[in-house]
Amino acid sequence: MAIGEYVHVFLDLFYSRSCLHCNLNLNNSYELYLCVDCKKEIPYVNDARCIRCGAALGTYIISTEKEGCPSCKGKYLPFNTLTSITHYEGVIKTLIHTFKYSRQKFLFRVLNDIMLAQENLKEVVPNVDVVVPVPLHWLKKMRRGFNQSELLARGIQKYFSKPLSANNLCRIKNTSSQTQLSKSQRQRNIRNAFFVDDPASFKGKKILLIDDVLTTGVTAMECSKKLKEAGAKSVHLLILATAR
Ligand SMILES: [Zn+2]
Ligand SMILES: [Zn+2]
Repeated sequence: MAIGEYVHVFLDLFYSRSCLHCNLNLNNSYELYLCVDCKKEIPYVNDARCIRCGAALGTYIISTEKEGCPSCKGKYLPFNTLTSITHYEGVIKTLIHTFKYSRQKFLFRVLNDIMLAQENLKEVVPNVDVVVPVPLHWLKKMRRGFNQSELLARGIQKYFSKPLSANNLCRIKNTSSQTQLSKSQRQRNIRNAFFVDDPASFKGKKILLIDDVLTTGVTAMECSKKLKEAGAKSVHLLILATAR
């Protein structure tokens, strides 16, 4: 019996464990954070998607990195590809929320496993030179205790043995919560919020930019723009969860 199999027995002695999403009691179960049913409900993105913008494709529509799909064709995008692992809803929404706002840092391992379980990741990651998380302002990072995107990036870095650059792309503007703002207000708010400290180290590089949640996309767009201005050859966005 592996040590890992004893973990739940050990935990049961001290804690009453329950599923983070539906509260089902998990004592006497091998699952640590999610029950078997909730695990099955993880909303993976598993339909055909545009490689360039991430939009859903119909049955007969194809997309290329250069041309994109009907919804992004001819549109300027500062990134080259967009891959989203899950939809931001249900189980994943609960996990991310618990992870971020109740400072349950250990949960990033669960989210990392969810990320690494997605097959198409193996098509995206091996072709990049460096992994870069979307940065948090230092004040926010200090308050929260961690940058959630950086923890996810570290998981990817380890699994694929890629170098990580967590301090070169910096956030210099501490924007207040963006959730109440319209898209144009967000765009104005985010302008010049980021800068690249040492552009030379990103020059000519294929960069994997990692963020936990994508809603309007203005943050990811702005970061990609800064990376391109620094001389990055290409920027590939990897998002854990995208809002519909
Ligand atoms: Zn459950
Ligand atoms: Zn597209």
